Amino acid sequence: MNQPPATLRVLLPLPLADAYDYLPLAGQKLQPGTVVDVPFGSKQMIGVVWGKGTSNLPLSKLRHITGTVDLPPLPETTRNFVDWVAQYTVTPPGAVLKMAFGSMRLLKPKKNDDFSCPPPKPNHHQPHLTDDQKKAADALVQKVRDEAYSVTLLDGVTGSGKTEVFCEAIAECFRQGKQALVLLPEIAMTAALLDRFAARFGVQPTQWHSELTEKQRRINWHAIMRGESKFILGARSALFLAYPNLGLIVVDEEHEAAYKQEEGVIYHGRDMAVVRAHLGNIPLVLSSATPSLETMFNVQQKKYDHVVLHERFGKAAMPKIELVDLRKYKMTAQNFISPPLFEALQKTIADKQQAMLFLNRRGYAPLTLCRACGHRLACPNCTSWMIEHKQSGRLHCHHCNFSMRLPDKCPTCGAEGRFAACGPGVERVAEEMKARMPDIRFAIMASDTLDGPKAAQALVNQMANQELDLLIGTQIMAKGYHFPRLTLVGVVDADLGLAGGDPRAAERTFQLLQQVSGRSGRGEDAGRVLLQTTAPDHPVMKALLKGDRDSFMAAELKEREAYHLPPAWRLASITVSGADKNHVIRLAEQIAAAAPQNQKLRILGPAPAPFAMLRGRYRHRLLVQAPRNINLSASIRQWLGGAKIPRSLRIMVDIDPYSFL
Ligand SMILES: [Zn+2]
Ligand SMILES: [Zn+2]
Repeated sequence: MNQPPATLRVLLPLPLADAYDYLPLAGQKLQPGTVVDVPFGSKQMIGVVWGKGTSNLPLSKLRHITGTVDLPPLPETTRNFVDWVAQYTVTPPGAVLKMAFGSMRLLKPKKNDDFSCPPPKPNHHQPHLTDDQKKAADALVQKVRDEAYSVTLLDGVTGSGKTEVFCEAIAECFRQGKQALVLLPEIAMTAALLDRFAARFGVQPTQWHSELTEKQRRINWHAIMRGESKFILGARSALFLAYPNLGLIVVDEEHEAAYKQEEGVIYHGRDMAVVRAHLGNIPLVLSSATPSLETMFNVQQKKYDHVVLHERFGKAAMPKIELVDLRKYKMTAQNFISPPLFEALQKTIADKQQAMLFLNRRGYAPLTLCRACGHRLACPNCTSWMIEHKQSGRLHCHHCNFSMRLPDKCPTCGAEGRFAACGPGVERVAEEMKARMPDIRFAIMASDTLDGPKAAQALVNQMANQELDLLIGTQIMAKGYHFPRLTLVGVVDADLGLAGGDPRAAERTFQLLQQVSGRSGRGEDAGRVLLQTTAPDHPVMKALLKGDRDSFMAAELKEREAYHLPPAWRLASITVSGADKNHVIRLAEQIAAAAPQNQKLRILGPAPAPFAMLRGRYRHRLLVQAPRNINLSASIRQWLGGAKIPRSLRIMVDIDPYSFL
């Protein structure tokens, strides 16, 4: 009896609804995961055999796989991960597969590509660990020896040596001959860590992030996929690469919101790392000095283990935190540094110590208004004010590419030269410091004043060599840097993060200010932190003052439960956007009307998003809340599956949203 040829499903790295069926070449047995060439439309594409064919099309309608590509097959764990992430994030699996491929241009190696990296040496330089660190390291090493899924929160104040501790787990992973992956929230931090890892293991890790050249990406991608690279340091996208032999994942600074990808496939790198570890049956370490509420919740629920480092390494004590109640001081509209903070700065610099001024706002002034009529300069494309930047001499919108010169005349009342800058950005704080302490050696550290990781590292080196007295910067500066002579941190506006409709505002402010505070007093000399605030009685300020993280977290969790917010509940946002406001509103209302019944979903809206216009598109938003035992992704997939979406409109689903613009 003649069996009909078995058809194969082939997933293409394209945002299509599903995989397509193809016929194999005669006599070829292709295993799932095999990378193949297939015809697609009038073109040839590279895809991956995903399983047996499922379509009911007659065989005569199907096309043949053209050939195989000389690459190792995509491991089963990677394929399961692609499917899982696609389901969870309500995105087409091909869009997720594309992340595993990095880019189509990487797939074919070139002649001179050479990955010449010797394997890392687990015992190259083992640092001396304190008893506390040794205990924590032993716990993590055991997890690696167990060779099974586990999640461990490595929880230690800044300066307690978390990196040294998780390096012991990485060393154990290397002893087993497996690959270890360390994820970082921001590329700017890689340069500093590369050297530390090189000192520990004798070789630098293989990098994976968007700042690499195409050639370097291609070489690294092949080395990782072929298992030649054992040690990988990367941004969140590194999670999707095809590891043949991954034995451990470390997510450093797990609380960072930068782990959330907000475009294309919208996912949270930390949460997907948990899924990847689970599917691969391997241990995961989440490292932080200020763990997220999500992670603490899972620790409470006994889903994650908890390893705590209590002491700061060496002699360093925790910095002393003081609040400066700004309401007590008369300050002019041009001054943002209060008398107590200014005095502390003077003293610190006179003592040949270093200081940091923190303000999480780029540019010169966040608002420019006409003193004659009160008109505020706004972006024509977004619900957003124009931000003045002295460095470029222009006003910029921080949400789209729009920029403009300061107009000569007010567009409303025609008054000339009456514009006034309101409020400070880091450039304005720098201007004030220059005027009040002309001899001070300072630099600004913000994402738009730095030209990539190398520039960040150059500034860090200048600071470490004491060529600077003062660093003025945004949150980019709050990250893991170690400056032994830094003894004063001034927070210009500690209230800044608390405003707005973000349910994580208090948590983020607490974490950010704790991180910034942790920069102070990491050497022999005690550190001091001054927080300028107009709300000294706010729970965030009180908790910071007392260093009482646990009670802050407990209170915050109660609040989230009361408002049906994560981590107590599940949350998703569905945003409709388009150029035509009425069409946007109509579709948003249709979607709301089609919401599934009897599923205990709570639906808020539709209502204009807080940024009702962004990059020239109107935005209407629904928030969907669900108890934790409901599969919210599946509900939304089903719900939106039937929606008819005109070409001019877009629906964006964000499961576990972190951005509330
Ligand atoms: Zn005016
Ligand atoms: Zn704009």
